Amino acid sequence: MTNTCIACAIATGQSPAHIIHQNDRIICFLDHAPINPGHILICPRAHLADLTDLPDDLLAEIATTAKAMAQLLKDKLGCDGVSLLQNNGAFNDLGHFHLHVFPRYAGDGFGWTNAQLKAVQPTSKEALALLALIRLGRKELVDGKSADGIKFLDEMDD
Ligand SMILES: [Zn+2]
Repeated sequence: MTNTCIACAIATGQSPAHIIHQNDRIICFLDHAPINPGHILICPRAHLADLTDLPDDLLAEIATTAKAMAQLLKDKLGCDGVSLLQNNGAFNDLGHFHLHVFPRYAGDGFGWTNAQLKAVQPTSKEALALLALIRLGRKELVDGKSADGIKFLDEMDD
């Protein structure tokens, strides 16, 4: 835990939150600035910042919990759908891993802001270069534990 981390403060009971679910490894509570009412954050209790910092078993538990939270939102709120969002690095405003799980409604106004994105569609040559760059890291991934079970597109059966 860090002194200034709000997620750690909530996890240790030092800051109040509307807790939806918790156990010895994770805690789920309502976001104080929801996209829609019922917006949940799923956090590990341990102060881990990014997706790549999470042990695989903890990440799996977070994914399973996200599924349960999505079902809860659908059952209790009757939403039209559920969205998940997770930011890392400079875009992680808490500095503590948190997965957003929030109910969605037709016409709620949330969505991609394509008009503000600076990325342009790559040419096919640029896309192939990017694919080659990503695949260069593939051997490291495959040799590491974190790639267990990952199948790449060209390895998948039809
Ligand atoms: Zn923390």
